[in-house]
Amino acid sequence: MLETVPAIARLRHEGAFEVLDRAAELAAQGRDVINLGIGQPDFKTAPHIVEAAVRALRDGHHGYTPPAGIAPLREAVSADLAARLGVAVDPGRVVIVPGGKVTMQMAVLLFGRPGVEIVHPDPGFPVYRSLIDYTGATAVALPLREEDGFAFSAEALLARITPRCRLIILNSPANPTGGVTPRSEVDRLAAGLEAHPRVAVLSDEIYGQLVYDGRAHASLLAYEHLRDRVILLDGWSKTYAMTGWRLGYGVWPAGLVDAVIRMAVNSYSCVNAAAQFAGIAALTGPQAAVEEMVAAFDARRRLAVEQLNAIDGVRCVEPGGAFYAFPNITATGRSAKQLEQALLEQAGVATIAGSSFGAHGEGYLRVSYANSRANIEAAMARIRGYLAQA
Ligand code: PMP
Repeated sequence: MLETVPAIARLRHEGAFEVLDRAAELAAQGRDVINLGIGQPDFKTAPHIVEAAVRALRDGHHGYTPPAGIAPLREAVSADLAARLGVAVDPGRVVIVPGGKVTMQMAVLLFGRPGVEIVHPDPGFPVYRSLIDYTGATAVALPLREEDGFAFSAEALLARITPRCRLIILNSPANPTGGVTPRSEVDRLAAGLEAHPRVAVLSDEIYGQLVYDGRAHASLLAYEHLRDRVILLDGWSKTYAMTGWRLGYGVWPAGLVDAVIRMAVNSYSCVNAAAQFAGIAALTGPQAAVEEMVAAFDARRRLAVEQLNAIDGVRCVEPGGAFYAFPNITATGRSAKQLEQALLEQAGVATIAGSSFGAHGEGYLRVSYANSRANIEAAMARIRGYLAQA
């Protein structure tokens, strides 16, 4: 009998990948499944980005790179942050990682241990909680509420900070709710954090460019007084439709960069070299494909929300960002998990139970509208039909 460390049992699977597996199994059996489950753009990576990777391979970029990433890519990230957010970031604080998730893992491993508290959004990306539990730290849930449009309340968050708190995790625009926290609330939070100098912030801004209705994305990176304790998580997966390339970055407080590089060399060494060249092309090349994708998501968002609200027993607030709607399904009389399973197995529509994102997600479903209008319309008709006959 092999004896692995007990902490491993506290790492959990991610619901979205489990539903993706089951949907693929059903499709392999010949079933027709519309996937509004997994959160990834249905767009292809833009051709000039793909070309940059191909060129890098042809030019012989086949070797290891520095663990923190190649210098021109770290510089391109820094220039992009300056242009987009008006924030000056030394490229030495940028660490390129194999997917945005890796920054998340590093941040939680750096701070989590028994006796420490880490505040996380609930409902929120489930990997936050899984990693916190793995480290033995105490997970402190910050409930996000439908009546607030699923935005963070600075007051509620600050009230959860105790002397044992070492890290808070924020995510706006948010998975799974599409909630966007307004700048006024982020300002209040940034001001309140002055009273808690030992608390670091992991700000997951991977959906930062997917905001609608003229909303502005308020980045935690912009607050000078938090410069030595904000960790920015971002990457290429969502903005550039590059989920399969596994490319992301973190902006770290200068004092943590060496620790992060040591974590990198003790695991993956460095990120795939060709993918890094693609990352440069994405940031420095034309942005028309991003703009087109965001406009398409915006139109689908309105379609999905309108159609969800037309279903008996379902009501859905308008999400301000990302590509998720988070309809309230309590009036259907089913739990989120029951409805997720019934819709997948019987109606041929993959969605994710809100309860996969924390206890406060019960009573909701996550619906990804990163799919064609035709598929969204067909999926909504299936859901409506299923609930009408059930
Ligand atoms: N943060 C959030 C909130 C996400 O939804 C995701 C992807 N689903 C990630 C991070 C991870 O992104 P990546 O695929 O680049 O690891």
